[in-house]
Parts: sequence; structure tokens; C-alpha cells
Amino acid sequence: MYNRALALRSEAWTQRKEKLSAYDLIKQITDWKKSEDTAWLADVSSVPLQQSVNNLEVAFQNFFGKRAKYPSFKKKSSGGSCRFTVSGFRIKNGEVWLAKTTAPLDIHWSQPLPKDSHPAQCTVRLTPSGEWYISFLCDVSIEPLPKMDKAIGLDMGISALVTTSAGEKIVNPKTMKRYRVRLARMQRHASRKTLGSTNSARTQRKVARIHQKISDTRQDQLHKLSTRLVHENQVIVIEDLSVHGMLRNHNLAGSIADASWGRLRHMLEYKCNWYGRELRVIDRWFPSSKTCHECGHVVSKMPLSVREWTCPKCGAVHDRDVNAAINILSAGTVDYTCGGAVKPKRTKCVDVGSGEAGISGL
Ligand SMILES: [Zn+2]
Repeated sequence: MYNRALALRSEAWTQRKEKLSAYDLIKQITDWKKSEDTAWLADVSSVPLQQSVNNLEVAFQNFFGKRAKYPSFKKKSSGGSCRFTVSGFRIKNGEVWLAKTTAPLDIHWSQPLPKDSHPAQCTVRLTPSGEWYISFLCDVSIEPLPKMDKAIGLDMGISALVTTSAGEKIVNPKTMKRYRVRLARMQRHASRKTLGSTNSARTQRKVARIHQKISDTRQDQLHKLSTRLVHENQVIVIEDLSVHGMLRNHNLAGSIADASWGRLRHMLEYKCNWYGRELRVIDRWFPSSKTCHECGHVVSKMPLSVREWTCPKCGAVHDRDVNAAINILSAGTVDYTCGGAVKPKRTKCVDVGSGEAGISGL
């Protein structure tokens, strides 16, 4: 559906300078159902068919809004999803029925639907590894957590995924390394297979399954971490990732870490919102790694290989990441530190990243 709509839309524009809207395309679905080669479209509910065209519309809006590239065709091997609105599904006695199906779905529930919730939408998704997922959009009310006066700063790195200003380092789960080794081995196998053969497809499926495992493990870790941080702190301070990313080399480990940080930030954003906490993002660059949190001295150089350093001015010994996390916390809580609520030790608040920092507005 998506691919066909995309092809028609592109063709209409390049050949006739004609703009086909989602409405124009949806009107054609009825004709496609009657046509011999796409008669099978009549076998499924029309709700996800229309939603597919709507998804394409969103993809085009993102393209015109310069937020995304020109929409591309979807591949069957990348999995896919379809969305059902209220008229397209039914929940009865704990069973889920999709329109035009003859049996309820065999679901292994990760959690029960919230009580008295009437899902407005459900999405069925097929992963590249061949697993099916279903998710429901429900309206629920979430109670904010009681207020507290703890604040924490997070430094995001590669050796440790996250280091907190309290000195804790969150590293990759042990299983992750095992999956990575397995993935590398399986990718070598895959590269030896003839493209398009059944053997190749089977190996690709195995590769996808390991990718899925890695992604699930990471997702689980990030959820547990973000929930804990939000429960334990009133204010969480992080650095803006886009700024952070520009400063580093672009390598594989980096891009994997970037993706994790993006997901962690997103989780922190909505969980802080849910529970009445505050996420502060330092949106301007300041030398969090190069500044001594004890005396405010800024060293000129700090190569990535340096894990521990001694401040030449005050002699304090710093763990690179913990020091950075403490500086991030200070930068994000200048008003707190001045009042002495968070770090009574610090006396010169204006010292944080003096000069090049320019964080006085925070
Ligand atoms: Zn110092």
C-alpha cells in the first residue's frame, strides 16, 4: 500500500506536476480492490490500508518540512507495521480481534491493559527478526511522585554508557558483549552466502534476531535506569547530545552510543513529565571534562584516552567522567548551588566553565 501510494505520488509529480493528496490516494483504494492483480487488498481491513497512506502523507510532510529525506520504498525484509483505529479492532473478554480476521490473536501479554481503558488505536508490528508485536494507545492518568530536593548530573560516554555525579558508572550489560561476538560471527557467515538464496535469507533472519536481542537488552537497561533516576532525583541534568556528538569522532561504537543516549534522553523527558520531575539540558557547549570541579580551573587539553587526572592548580585527583558529571550538575543547577542546596562545598558559582562556557544564562 505504502509503496504503491509512493510510486503513484512520485509519478504524478514528476510526469504531470500533479500533487496527489492522501485523500486522492485513499479514494483509489476501492478501484485497486477490484483490479485483478491487487484483488487481495479486499481480504484485509481497509483501516490499515488508509492508515498506510496517511503514514506516507506524514513522511512527505516531514520531507517538505526538511525534517527527513524523500520517502523511500519499504522492504519486506525490514518488517513493517499497520495501525488499526477504533473501528478496526475489538477487545472482548480479554481477546483481541482485528477486523476481517476469523480468530482472536494469540497474545502473550507483557502487561495487562489498564483498567477501564478503551484503547483508541492499536498497532501491529513485525520485526525484521520475524516477531510480532501489538501495542495499544490508552488514556491513563499517572500520579506525580512526591517532591524531593535531590539533583543529579549525567555524563554520557563510550567506556561507560552513563556516569553520574554521584560517582556511579552504568556499563553495558554482560550479555551485550556475548551478543556482539555472536553477531560478528553470524555476519561473517551471512557475507559468504549467495544473495537471494534461501540459505542467505535464513542467515539474514538469524542476524536480525541477534540485532533484536541487543536492542531489547539495551531497551530494558535504559528503561530500568531512567525509571530509577527519575524516582531518586527531582532534577536531572544532561548535556545536549547534538552538541556532544559533534565533538566526537564518528565511529561505530559512537553511533551505537548516540542511539542509546537519544533513547535515554527521550525516556527521561517523558518520565520526568509523568512524575513531576525536571530534566535540564545544557544546550551550550562548556568544557565539562576539562574543568576541575573542586577549584574551577580549566586545563587546555584532555585527550579521550585520559581516564584519570590531577588538577595542576589544587591537586585534586579526578575520575574523568565523574568530574564531568559533577560539572554538568553544577552547570544545570547554578541557582541551586548559589543557595547551597546541592553542593554547599562550591563557593564561586560563577566559576563554572568560566570564559568559554557562557552558561550564565542557565
Ligand atoms: Zn582544581
